[in-house]
Amino acid sequence: MSNQYVYKFGGDTADGSADMKNLLGGKGANLAEMARLGIPVPAGFTITTEMCTVYYKMDRNYPPELREQMEEGLEHIEKVMGKKFNDPRNPLLLSVRSGARVSMPGMMDTVLNIGLNDETVKGLVESSGNERFAYDSYRRFVQMYGDVVLDMKPEKKEEEDPFEIIIDAKKKEVGAQLDTELSTEDLKEIVAKFKALIKDKKGIDFPEDPHEQVWGAVNAVFGSWMGARAITYRKINGIPGDWGTAVNVQSMVFGNMGDDCATGVAFTRDPATGVNRFFGEYLINAQGEDVVAGIRTPQPVNDSSITSEGQVTLQSLMPGPYKTLEDIYLKLEKHYKDMQDIEFTIEKGKLWMLQTRTGKRTVQAAFKIAVDMVEEKLIDERTAVLRIDPNQLDQLLHPMFDPEAKKEATVLGKGLPASPGAATGKVVFHAEDAIELAEKGEKVILVRIETSPEDIGGMDAAQGILTARGGRTSHAAVVARGMGKCCVAGCSDIIINYEDAKFTADNKVVKAGDYISIDGATGEVLKGRVRTIDPEISGYFAKLMKWADSIRKLKVRTNADTPADALKAVEMGAEGIGLCRTEHMFFEGDRIKAVREMILSEDEAGRRKALTKLEPMQKSDFIGIFEAMDGRPVTIRLLDPPLHEFLPHEEDQQKEMAADMGVSLKVIKEKVESLKEFNPMLGNRGCRLGIKYNEISEMQVHAIFSAVVECHKKGFKVVPEVMIPLIGTAMEFTILRDITDKVAEEIKSSSGVDFDYLVGTMIEIPRAALTADQIAAEAEFFSFGTNDLTQMTFGYSRDDIGSFIKVYLDKGVLPEDPFLTLDQVGVGQLVEMGIKKGRSVRPDLKIGICGEHGGDPASVEFCHRVGMDYVSCSPFRVPIARLAAAQAVIKEG
Ligand code: PEP
Ligand code: MG
Repeated sequence: MSNQYVYKFGGDTADGSADMKNLLGGKGANLAEMARLGIPVPAGFTITTEMCTVYYKMDRNYPPELREQMEEGLEHIEKVMGKKFNDPRNPLLLSVRSGARVSMPGMMDTVLNIGLNDETVKGLVESSGNERFAYDSYRRFVQMYGDVVLDMKPEKKEEEDPFEIIIDAKKKEVGAQLDTELSTEDLKEIVAKFKALIKDKKGIDFPEDPHEQVWGAVNAVFGSWMGARAITYRKINGIPGDWGTAVNVQSMVFGNMGDDCATGVAFTRDPATGVNRFFGEYLINAQGEDVVAGIRTPQPVNDSSITSEGQVTLQSLMPGPYKTLEDIYLKLEKHYKDMQDIEFTIEKGKLWMLQTRTGKRTVQAAFKIAVDMVEEKLIDERTAVLRIDPNQLDQLLHPMFDPEAKKEATVLGKGLPASPGAATGKVVFHAEDAIELAEKGEKVILVRIETSPEDIGGMDAAQGILTARGGRTSHAAVVARGMGKCCVAGCSDIIINYEDAKFTADNKVVKAGDYISIDGATGEVLKGRVRTIDPEISGYFAKLMKWADSIRKLKVRTNADTPADALKAVEMGAEGIGLCRTEHMFFEGDRIKAVREMILSEDEAGRRKALTKLEPMQKSDFIGIFEAMDGRPVTIRLLDPPLHEFLPHEEDQQKEMAADMGVSLKVIKEKVESLKEFNPMLGNRGCRLGIKYNEISEMQVHAIFSAVVECHKKGFKVVPEVMIPLIGTAMEFTILRDITDKVAEEIKSSSGVDFDYLVGTMIEIPRAALTADQIAAEAEFFSFGTNDLTQMTFGYSRDDIGSFIKVYLDKGVLPEDPFLTLDQVGVGQLVEMGIKKGRSVRPDLKIGICGEHGGDPASVEFCHRVGMDYVSCSPFRVPIARLAAAQAVIKEG
């Protein structure tokens, strides 16, 4: 039995259907489906994607049965359309187009008007009653055939198409400005010249035999699957080369035969707002490409599509075909149960559908359409939840650039899109300047080679942050995301010169005070001010998110360090705090001085004195956070970063510190020097600090438990979760847990208040995952710190990845930035192992994630699959995680 490579559609026939996209491509499958629904589509057939694979396997040849099947396909078209191929009176003309599983716009070849030759063109004159139209079609066909099938289009863009040179010469000769001014006689001459050019350049006669023309076009389309453009597009969009393209051979219908013809595109609902109204544009006497090319201004199809006065609707001009179009769109939407993007052509008063596919839409429209369709009983709630792309939610929660204004802006460079949103402001290079200008009401963008915790005030004051170095989990990115502030990180295209207060990018100099704009969704840095628009959150959002919450199994917590962040997160739907980075509290106001005093102290007594100053501040922060969370669980992490991050690095700050502490500048300088590390991320940080200086951990847990007691006295119960960072051995954990327990006992007995608490750890060092059973014997919960776990598993510094990640992504070394989307293949194994080993000794071990991956949809799906209890992410990503967690459940089936 031979394989079926050709699937016919049109008339009463539909060999294929919408669910056969893999075999027939998106376009072919939907054409078959429309035919199945009795919708008028020009008859045709689809050659399968499988044939494409076979074609390449056979070294660009076809199996013999294809010829027979194609002949049958052609007969089918002739029968349905009532025209004959090569008929000198009323010829059938064909189009041959590509059609992959996913749309690859403009990446592959198309040939139109196949079937024309010196004889059939006369038939077209007769059947259309329009001589100029017929010869214009013929002219276009010979040119397209030469360019596409005979490969005569120059590779280099700057070289002119040889056919265009002939047209230009003719226009000059007759004094015409536009192609449309050429007469029928001119067109006839051009066709003759085209053919002579083919003979001259290719040494062959232009094929007059329509069958030969079809085969040539089919070869060209299959061949274009391996064309440079298509290969690059596939690489960028992750489309496998072995999918292949289908080829659609279909009868031509003409929207440009006269004033009883038209062509247009429409959406079954408004793709910008989601409003349930049919919405589209058309052109009278035109071809499809004219609508897209924008040479003539299209008109609205109906009253609800009118945008300005004086427009003439299709509805008023051609009420009959419009009514058919209306019936069809309603049928299509009901059938596909989703908003459709359709293309149609009216030939001499008869409407034909050329395409239908799921329409692209804004996120606002996506919510409205999904909720409306549930109310219209077209889809159920689970389907509605699947209809929203969680990544698109960023658009809803942050300001974005007005797309029109952005089109005109100059791009200075591109970095990593580290925190979404759009921001415009004056360039400042120092945190203090940001604060000063912001106080005067100015909008600023803080531009730094990299940020350090000292810059936090400036980051808060700025509209957005741009750094030349650093990855998506660098300090700038993490802090910006927490603040819901736009950030572009690791933009190596900009060269910063702090001394001259300027940066250069793309040979342009930008000085402090100049305006720039940054796009946190794309990583672009733009010159000047670009208008932004604020998102609107509608009731549709709340409704759909409620459905998502009822479906998901994972809890969603937030990473928050201040009461304000915590409140914001609760507003976004957070169910607790999964990570409170206590070091972020050390940078506010005067606290940094007390922290520095502690670090610079010579002995334990000095350190304890400084810690006594810090404790009340930490305690009041914790009370604020507990109150904001109103009984929801709160995980507080003990101090994590290396101490030198807190030290004064500039001389005037060092002088100030020396004066405050009554020591010489030299002493301060020496201490700063002695704390320097080659690899601070692998140095004296995390639990190592608390083990070396027990008093730091003692102060922190003392502040936590005192805050708990205070809350209990105020009448509400808090069960804090104390989290110990950067554990690599069980012993490290035991030491710090013992300190925690001891302090808890002391506070319980001195206050007379009994309270519960948990002590757990982060799993963020590979060794911790490998020995998770030993650690779980001691720890009451795990939280995967996938930022550090990724850093240490790959051996990529999270602060330096900006210098090579772009190259790695371009060259396909990595499919994705592993700091953005969890590397399930590698790092994921450690996570799974950690969970399995941990629960093997403590079956009820509570497990979550608090690395930046906790807000990434694909990673959230992974967390659900491996059985975590919760994910934790920055406040603005909480809705993304809620939706992704629900989708994970639905996808599981
Ligand atoms: C982590 O490492 O994933 C984490 C959450 O901690 P931090 O980013 O503060 O190192
Ligand atoms: Mg960490």
